[in-house]
Amino acid sequence: MPVVAQLEPQVTRVLAPNPSGMTLDGTNTYLVGEPGSGQAVLVDPGPDDAAHLAAVERELAARDARCVAVLVTHHHGDHAEAAQPWGARFGAPVAAARGDVAGPGGRVLEAGERLALAGATLDVVPTPGHTADHLAFRLDSGAVLVGDHVLGRGTSVVTHPEGDVVAYLESLRRVHDLGPSALYCGHGPELTEDPAAVLDFYLAHRACREAQLTAALAAGAGTVDELVAQVYAAVPRSLWPAAAQSTRATLAKLAAEGRVRFGDDGAVRPA
Ligand SMILES: [Zn+2]
Repeated sequence: MPVVAQLEPQVTRVLAPNPSGMTLDGTNTYLVGEPGSGQAVLVDPGPDDAAHLAAVERELAARDARCVAVLVTHHHGDHAEAAQPWGARFGAPVAAARGDVAGPGGRVLEAGERLALAGATLDVVPTPGHTADHLAFRLDSGAVLVGDHVLGRGTSVVTHPEGDVVAYLESLRRVHDLGPSALYCGHGPELTEDPAAVLDFYLAHRACREAQLTAALAAGAGTVDELVAQVYAAVPRSLWPAAAQSTRATLAKLAAEGRVRFGDDGAVRPA
């Protein structure tokens, strides 16, 4: 992926140099603002990294814009670490769903708020699931900045114990119902062709994993490790810890539905 890409007149993506199995090519930081407004908003500043900061400042200079706000999709460090230090550097408030992420002088965002910033509007769309505090931001163009709710490649992780599979599925449907023109992801390339189909795939993928889990349980797998080894056999082992989190999150959903129960020994059985 190129380090810098102009996605539409209001939006530039700057890729942070923090690639990994979980962050794919690295974290995508987005500059949003109307050209000529002299202002821009940063969404997910990412890691507090000197080279990344320099790249973001180059793009601000190229737009002849100053940063007027820093928005954060969720509290994970690969999105939020730079928020408070860069907010202080730019003299711009940080806004997020959680007060500890927004920090002193920051602003806690409410679901459904419409932010008018830098000549653009950003609708605050609650998207809990990956984490409890996850937000997406919808732009005038219909594009949605989705953070880690949807990734540009592969699928996202519902963390455990913070994440919530039921909330995650509702959030996928919520973004689907917005009829997004594009999804600008926290990691990986932007999804511009048929975003609704991507969201449908995510919903189907979750249903498929749930069916695979219940089948593996019925076939005798009784621990999270055994379930992951069976259901995620085709996934690189380096991603199994994340798979275990998604598995635990799905088991919590099945337990809430009375479809599995946890034994005193920690084993999982069909109810
Ligand atoms: Zn992330």
